[in-house]
Parts: sequence; structure tokens; C-alpha cells
Amino acid sequence: MSTARGFWLTISIILSAFFGHFFLQRYTEVTKQLKEENTLDPLTGLLNRRGLNTHFSKELEETAITSSPLSLILIDIDYFKKINDRYGHDVGDICLIEVANVLSSTLRKRDIIARFGGEEFIVILPNTTKNQAALIADDLKKVISKQKFSDFNLPITITLGVTDSRGQHDNALKMIKRADKALYRGKDKGRNCVELSE
Ligand code: GH3
Ligand code: MG
Ligand code: MG
Repeated sequence: MSTARGFWLTISIILSAFFGHFFLQRYTEVTKQLKEENTLDPLTGLLNRRGLNTHFSKELEETAITSSPLSLILIDIDYFKKINDRYGHDVGDICLIEVANVLSSTLRKRDIIARFGGEEFIVILPNTTKNQAALIADDLKKVISKQKFSDFNLPITITLGVTDSRGQHDNALKMIKRADKALYRGKDKGRNCVELSE
């Protein structure tokens, strides 16, 4: 092989390795970014339902292995429609973002928090009994009711339904249903309260 051919072969190998590495890195970054966008709620930055499902399943598996307690809190903002009706959807959006921020900053790092629907949030509390979860829910209720939201300093309250994982025959859907039932008992009782599932 001539020296010139050898030289160009070496250069092309180096360039291929360099660009190959570069494109692989970019591909990995873009894939990661897309995955994150798929699992996050664009308004609040919290997990969306898809993200919640993934994390919730993992926590349920972990709970089954370790037999550690796991609790769930379903949260619904009280009379949220009134805020939209009186101040507009954009102010409603700001309130949602701010409520999400208050929830995130009040909860522990390991807790999982997701926007479950319009003005509903779900919190998964690993390694937490129902009684401990009730205390956390009460804390969230108090913190939210003490704050004022948006530039209009609007008061907001939330109603919370709490449940815990019940072993092998339980699953995410059943837990959410139990918490939802408790939450609606709280709405019936007049809102701004914490209700525990049976
Ligand atoms: P309740 O105390 O019974 O929960 O009353 P509510 O008014 O909060 O309940 P309702 O389910 O009647 O209203 C929820 C409202 O949330 C209706 C909908 O317009 C609003 N909403 C849902 N998603 C969004 C959103 O992304 N942004 C804004 N601004 N509003 C939203
Ligand atoms: Mg609702
Ligand atoms: Mg509501």
C-alpha cells in the first residue's frame, strides 16, 4: 500500500470514528429528550399520565418485593372552574403551574407527583403508610390554603383522597378508584379536606 493511500485510509477511519461517535451521542440525547417530553406535562412540568404509569408500576413492583407500604393521594382543586370563568383560562393556567410548584416543593424528593387530568394531581408516596400519607395530605391542604395564587392573589383550596396499597391483589387502577371515591366524599363534605379510603 502506498504511503498516500495509507494516510487517507487512516484519516477516513479517524473521521468515521469521530462522526460516528458524534451522531450516536446526538441520537442518544434526542431520544432521551423525546422520552422526557413524552412523559412530562408541558404546562406544569410534572409527570403526565404516561410518566405516572411508568413510575407507579415500578413503585408497585418494588413494594411487592420489599413488602414496604405505599400510599397514594389524589388531589382536585376546589371550584377551579370559577377561576377560569372569572379571570380567564390563562390565569387558570398560572394557578395550575403555581399549585404544581407548591405541591412539588412541599413533598419529599422521593415522592412522585403527576398531573393526572385538568386540575387533578396524583402523588405516590413510597415507603409511606396510610396514616403517614394522611398527615402529608393534611400538610398539602394547609400549605395550599395559606398561599395566594397568580397576580390576582387568588385563594385556592384542594380536596384530597388518600389510599394505600393492599398487597398482591391490588393494582394502580384500583388504588386510584379508591382514592377517587374518598376524594368525592370530601367534595360532598364541603371541600378543602382530606378523606381516607376505607
Ligand atoms: P370541584 O370543586 O367540584 O372540583 O369544582 P371544579 O370547578 O374544580 O370542577 P370541574 O370539574 O367542574 O372543573 C374543572 C375545570 O378545570 C374545568 C376546566 O375548564 C378546567 N381545566 C381543566 N384543564 C385546564 C387547564 O389546563 N387550564 C385551565 N385554565 N383550566 C383547566
Ligand atoms: Mg376535577
Ligand atoms: Mg375541581
